[in-house]
Amino acid sequence: MSANGEKKSASGNLNHSITRRDFFKGSAAAALGAAALGSSLRAAETAAELTVNGLPAVVFGRSGLKVTRISFGGILMTEPAVLSHVLDRGINLVHTAPGYMNGRSIEAFGKVLKTRRQETVLATKVMPGKDLDSALKTLNTDYTDFIIPPMDSIEEISRPGLREEFEKARQAGKCGHMGFACHTQSPELIDKMVELGFYGLILMSYADTGNPAFIDSLDRARKAGIGILAMKGLPKRAAGNPTAEERALYATLCGSMVNRLHAHTILASMGSFQAVDMYREILETRLSFHAPNLEESYRAGLDGSYCAMCDNCRGICPNGVAVKDIVRFRMYDRDYRMTAYARTEYAGLAENCRAGACDNCGLCENVCSRHLPLRGMLSEAHARLA
Ligand code: SF4
Ligand code: SF4
Repeated sequence: MSANGEKKSASGNLNHSITRRDFFKGSAAAALGAAALGSSLRAAETAAELTVNGLPAVVFGRSGLKVTRISFGGILMTEPAVLSHVLDRGINLVHTAPGYMNGRSIEAFGKVLKTRRQETVLATKVMPGKDLDSALKTLNTDYTDFIIPPMDSIEEISRPGLREEFEKARQAGKCGHMGFACHTQSPELIDKMVELGFYGLILMSYADTGNPAFIDSLDRARKAGIGILAMKGLPKRAAGNPTAEERALYATLCGSMVNRLHAHTILASMGSFQAVDMYREILETRLSFHAPNLEESYRAGLDGSYCAMCDNCRGICPNGVAVKDIVRFRMYDRDYRMTAYARTEYAGLAENCRAGACDNCGLCENVCSRHLPLRGMLSEAHARLA
């Protein structure tokens, strides 16, 4: 058994005669595979009670891989034992990035994947032609199923040469499918992704958008075979040992995200054994996936500073302050307790885009779909992160 996953993996999808890595190689084989998977996708998606490791699962778009309906986000994880616990508890789609926890997350992944790669469906936040090789080295594997670099605009996802970089990496067997991680809820962006044809998934921030056009565009993407991985729909990270109240809240929120967004799977950050157990419990009971009044419950579960990432404030500030980005960095600091990461992200903004350039005109608050007290939030973020 190699790290290539020659035997049947936790995703339960491999033909035993070839490795998943080999399957990526060769455009003809992959194209045929994609077509076959696409044609069978609809039937597979509707097949009753798909499971992986006894947990509710779904066929993840045209990749054909079966993934659990809650996935593991490694943004808060530094201990290999936590990832081992995730796999022991049956969750199979796992995600990390070189920048998470100053590199400690991907290093912890590497320690576990060295012996357990075949049990995972791996998603890595890297660009195909840039940092893929070094990430794979740290991860102790020679391929990742998905690469999901952060991109938020039509210009970025359409960049000349990007498709070729991905195809080169795929044909070398280093990755299976390309997507992108996105914090902009733009129907035009989603439709462009579908039109470009080479994207197989999207890691999309999902919140209480109130924008049916965005939800419709995700539906079109899903019908086109794009895997929908939802992130940031949970208002704060699960604490070290979630209370009963928090467990009920998260169950409701997860149910809402699966039902309302039609997400294939939810990427949930888990930094502790207790958080892993909580999500496993949510998956097992499935009560949340059928709970009544989900929309109402979802809204009730959001706190007063939760950004819906609706993008209404984009370009609104006369001084050029990057309102939405700063609110997100504030969330990393305040809710995820990732102050160092938040400071690094904040430092990446141009000086004139930071909250210090705000003169309290209030225009951004006027357009905010969540009616957030943005001036105070920006000021607080600047004080903590500058
Ligand atoms: S309140 Fe500040 S950040 Fe908001 S639009 Fe006015 S100057 Fe820009
Ligand atoms: S700060 Fe308000 S307007 Fe801006 S993206 Fe968030 S919810 Fe939308």
